[in-house]
Amino acid sequence: MNLGLEVLFIQVPHCELKCLPIVYIEMLEAWYVLRRKSELKLSVENIYDQPLFKNPEIVLKDKPILWYDFINAGIVSLKDICYEVKTGFLPDCAIVEIIQNVFENSNVKNVIDRYHCLICAIPDDWKQTVQSELHYRNAKNNNRHFYDICKDPCGIEMWKTLFNIDDNDFSKIWCNVNLFWKPAKFIELDYKILHNCIFTKSKFKRIGWSDDDLCDVCGSEIEDLVHMFINCDELLEFHNYLSELFVKLFENCDSDGISGVQSEHLLLFGLNWKMKGVNDSFVNFLLSTARYCIFRRRNIIMNGKTNVNLVQFFKYTLKHYVIYFYVYMCQKYKMHFLFEKKFLLDNPLVKEVDDDIIFKL
Ligand SMILES: [Zn+2]
Repeated sequence: MNLGLEVLFIQVPHCELKCLPIVYIEMLEAWYVLRRKSELKLSVENIYDQPLFKNPEIVLKDKPILWYDFINAGIVSLKDICYEVKTGFLPDCAIVEIIQNVFENSNVKNVIDRYHCLICAIPDDWKQTVQSELHYRNAKNNNRHFYDICKDPCGIEMWKTLFNIDDNDFSKIWCNVNLFWKPAKFIELDYKILHNCIFTKSKFKRIGWSDDDLCDVCGSEIEDLVHMFINCDELLEFHNYLSELFVKLFENCDSDGISGVQSEHLLLFGLNWKMKGVNDSFVNFLLSTARYCIFRRRNIIMNGKTNVNLVQFFKYTLKHYVIYFYVYMCQKYKMHFLFEKKFLLDNPLVKEVDDDIIFKL
């Protein structure tokens, strides 16, 4: 994704921001608050670069506009509906032609009507600039700093290479990481895994904080992130246990998508597509819990405490949180429908019986 300065002028609702890493969500939302209290002086170039959609300055019936046919045809900013070599807006027929290049059968009258509405919605002083000042496409770009912070975080490059994950998959993975009802410590760990910023023993050795880089759990191999969650011999029993759970969770799956499920990928990144007969929300919650328990057990051993039974620890933690959400969502906030959707539907492991939760773990 290559965003520029324009991103400062749009305002995206929180629910639509959730496909981004948390750091960007917080940065953008902080900016929305600041922007309400500040006055932006726009240069001629800034005005021409104004995004047409999701821009709080361009509203129809008090709502920002979002038209996918315009966006897919490349009409996204003010300059896209203006002449390049003279002042003024493009005529109706030019807009129709641009849209029809992509959507052959689009309704001409509908496109023209919306174009007129769009022009009306643009603030008068911007229209004045378009009518009197020329846009210079090659004006010196002062936006470099913002481009820099909109680059992909470098940590995820490792996963892209190791597991062949593309940008589209990552946006779904981020949605899973940022699920609003997940416990904060699960979100934090999932965030750190994706950013490859957990201090493994191999990292400790590299920065001189440890003499060795051996995994403290198995004591025989170098501990990197993949070893910590996937390859450690001491995880064998736990992985086998998880596999048994997945056989049950996927037993009613009625989708070809099941062929794309790989256990390593699943454990690290969750299930990022929907399959009929499978409760993907619960599967992802269970996987977050599994990652958290693996990491906690490793820290307990690293801090010199005795080993814990990972399977038992996992069962205890999962039950604890599911019951917590049952009380929180159903009894306290009357959101039974949400609990049912996220935890009970298509889920052979958790059942609600007589106002109680029964587990088959
Ligand atoms: Zn190990």
